[in-house]
Parts: sequence; C-alpha cells; structure tokens
Amino acid sequence: MIPTYPVPTEPDTGPRLRIGVLASQGDFATHARVLESLGAVSLEVRRPDELVGLDGLVIPGGESTTIGKAIERDGLGDAIRAHVEAGRPILGTCAGMIVCDREHLGLVDAIALRNAFGRQIASFEAELEMSGLGPEPIRAVFIRAPWIGEHGSEVEVLASLGDHPVAVRQGQVLLCAFHPELTDDSRVHALLMAMATAARRRIASEERGTRIA
Ligand code: GLN
Repeated sequence: MIPTYPVPTEPDTGPRLRIGVLASQGDFATHARVLESLGAVSLEVRRPDELVGLDGLVIPGGESTTIGKAIERDGLGDAIRAHVEAGRPILGTCAGMIVCDREHLGLVDAIALRNAFGRQIASFEAELEMSGLGPEPIRAVFIRAPWIGEHGSEVEVLASLGDHPVAVRQGQVLLCAFHPELTDDSRVHALLMAMATAARRRIASEERGTRIA
C-alpha cells in the first residue's frame, strides 16, 4: 500500500516550511520563487549540512550528468537519502527525476529514460491530468524530458503521456518529467508543501511519542 498524504485541512500555525532547492546546477532559482510565492522559506542547498532541518527538497531540471556528478563531488548522496529516510519529501523534476531513479540515488524503484521523447524534440507542452492535483489538467512543459521506462509495484503513476509515466510517487518522493516551475500553475509545488506539512506533523508527533516512552 502506498501511503497517502492528505492536504491538511487546518492552516499550519507553525513556522513557515523550509524547503531546500538543490542549487548545484539547473533551474533552481525559478523553483525558489514559486516556493516563496506559496509561503515557504526556500534555501539553496549545495552542501550536506544545508539539508539539516529542511522540511522538503526540490531537485530541479538541468543536466542530469552534471547534477549527478555535483551530488557525488559534494558528498550530498547520503544526506539526501537520510532526508528521505527521515520521512521528509523530495520533488525531482526532469533531470531531477533522473538523478532520483534506481540507477542514480536509488530513491525510487524506477528507471527514468533520458531524452525519451527523442533528442530532436527539444520542447513541447501538453495538458495532463495528474492525480493529487484535482480534476483540472495541468499545462506541462517538457524540455528534453525523460519518462519512466520501468518501475516496481511500490511506484504510483500519477500522470502518463500515452503509455509512458511522466509523474510518479513512491512514498515521500514525487517525480515529474516536466517543469512545473515554468508556468503559473503552482499545484505541484503545493503538493510537495502539503507532503512537507504532513511530514513535519508526523515527525513532531513521533518525537513527542519517543519523549513520553
Ligand atoms: N535531458 C536532460 C538530461 O538528461 C534533462 C533536461 C531537463 O532537465 N530539462 O539530463
């Protein structure tokens, strides 16, 4: 069973969510602006210690080989895995989807195929229905995008183009092949923030439970 993360019904009265954006390379500044517009504090992440205390993390699009090498060079892999193991969410978009897959950080049981739409198809847009975002389709911008070539049963497909999954979730890891930061529809970032709010509450209540025990 895939756990679900309902959007909290009461407003969060705690401090603003702190969402990191991996800033090694790629489209990080645009993600930061969307997160801030939704009320989060967004922080650029380049070092492992900058992941401590974050409620969520975005791994942006860009060039997956470059981002993967930067993660290795900066020793970020273990810190990113620890963030997910602690129950905190990640949104990986486009190249970020690739670096989270089974052959890279191993955060999801899926393989993302690079440039899956063909190298010649630099960029296109499509209307997608995506579960978790409500019935209204989202305008999705694809730029030399991957799709999910294969995945295990733990992976929930949230949106597909033809037969190809282009948005998936496994537990705390939400991945999309398109660039949700490039339109003014911020529902994908809002979903990440809802997951982060739920995670913050869950972790706080677990900590309370541990203190009582
Ligand atoms: N094609 C790029 C790669 O494979 C991803 C493109 C993107 O993130 N927009 O790394």
